[in-house]
Amino acid sequence: MTAATCAHLDTVAEVTPSSQGCEDCLRIGGRWLHLRLCMSCGHVGCCDNSPNRHATAHFHSQGHPIIQSYEPGEDWWYCYLDDLAFTVDGAPSFAHP
Ligand SMILES: [Zn+2]
Ligand SMILES: [Zn+2]
Ligand SMILES: [Zn+2]
Repeated sequence: MTAATCAHLDTVAEVTPSSQGCEDCLRIGGRWLHLRLCMSCGHVGCCDNSPNRHATAHFHSQGHPIIQSYEPGEDWWYCYLDDLAFTVDGAPSFAHP
């Protein structure tokens, strides 16, 4: 594995987080562990350690490959297509309240 860069950064937009919690869990009364922010549309979904894995479900349904952690103090990004975690210098860091 030598792939060190993500080729999908052109899918990243100026997003506004859609919610302070997983919007899909809030709709169905579910619970989540950690939150992930879609960098294409601002969808907030829950992580793969959460029962409903809405961030991954959002990738599969919408095809938006890049998320950023929405946890306070975390600014890593992740690309589903590359299965790659990375950081972006100078990018805005998002965190739920
Ligand atoms: Zn990528
Ligand atoms: Zn969820
Ligand atoms: Zn999205």
